[in-house]
Amino acid sequence: MSLLNATEGPGRILLGTVRIARGMTQGELAKEAGISQGVLSKSESGAIPLDAKRLATLAGVLGVPKELIATPVSEIGSSPYVFHRKRSTLPVSKANQLRAELDLIHIQVAGILREQSSEVRLPRLPLPEDGYDSPEDIARKVRLALGMSGGPALHLAGVLEQAGVVVVSRSLGSSRIDAIVSWPSGRRPLVLLGDHAPADRQRFTLAHELAHAVMHQVPTEEQENEADRFASELLMPAVAVGPQLDRITVPRLAKLKAQWGVSMAALLRRGRDLGRVNDTQYRALNIELSRAGYRTNEPVQVPREAPSLLSRIIQQRLRSGEVVADLARSARMTEDEFVDVYLGGVA
Ligand SMILES: [Zn+2]
Repeated sequence: MSLLNATEGPGRILLGTVRIARGMTQGELAKEAGISQGVLSKSESGAIPLDAKRLATLAGVLGVPKELIATPVSEIGSSPYVFHRKRSTLPVSKANQLRAELDLIHIQVAGILREQSSEVRLPRLPLPEDGYDSPEDIARKVRLALGMSGGPALHLAGVLEQAGVVVVSRSLGSSRIDAIVSWPSGRRPLVLLGDHAPADRQRFTLAHELAHAVMHQVPTEEQENEADRFASELLMPAVAVGPQLDRITVPRLAKLKAQWGVSMAALLRRGRDLGRVNDTQYRALNIELSRAGYRTNEPVQVPREAPSLLSRIIQQRLRSGEVVADLARSARMTEDEFVDVYLGGVA
């Protein structure tokens, strides 16, 4: 929801990004590394160079290779805007941390996939100001571009990966944020997806983040609503799902949930938005959902999205004779962290 603008000077190095990604303040890192906060601050901004000893100490405290923290930010390129799907109660510091993590994951992904720039089949389709194309129109164009059928999109992550999008699903350390996305020029769009939400919510979030990547290059007042409209059309195309929502009942909603892989609540809202459910029916069905306890805990489990691009490439590289240290180096990570993050702790 909120947007953070990164204006980086030419001399700034990744030290600051790594520190923020680790959730540390300058004061905390300075103390642990035994250097003054002034020196740390000037080192981060590139005002003074880091000597070899300090570089090694800082890398050790942060648990990253020295080369990573000494890399100029300008070499990496960072996304001017990052879009979250989050609650307003998410602390700013946590949002900044995830943004920094996202920047580092971009570096890791480019290293793992061994690419400078990449072929992305996902189109950038900025939402026109004249309103000529609606978010729903753009969702339909994306469906076409990605070769999706008009039916349920039950393996959205797989479809996106085939189009060059990277989806990383892991704990975000807070249930107040569902996902974060950025698409710097020359890189792949990268969605960092929290793994805490039920699968149906997670899938809607993935579609919502995709909407930001495709439609939003600059922040707008309406961006959240627009992203939700795109996601609804992508996951529940009006033409196909509309007629199924006539005279809908709670048991039918449960059946449709299994078919479309979206929550009963989202289907019911879709019915109202498409004019298939009137206000009276909408209220009555919502009361029925509440009484059954479905507002907090819906029946019917939807299969989880399972991104596999990164693990596939990692396994390929290992089979072709590379060792974990090679992969860690290309991802600019320590071997330990690489094993933790990308090999599930098993080397
Ligand atoms: Zn959003």
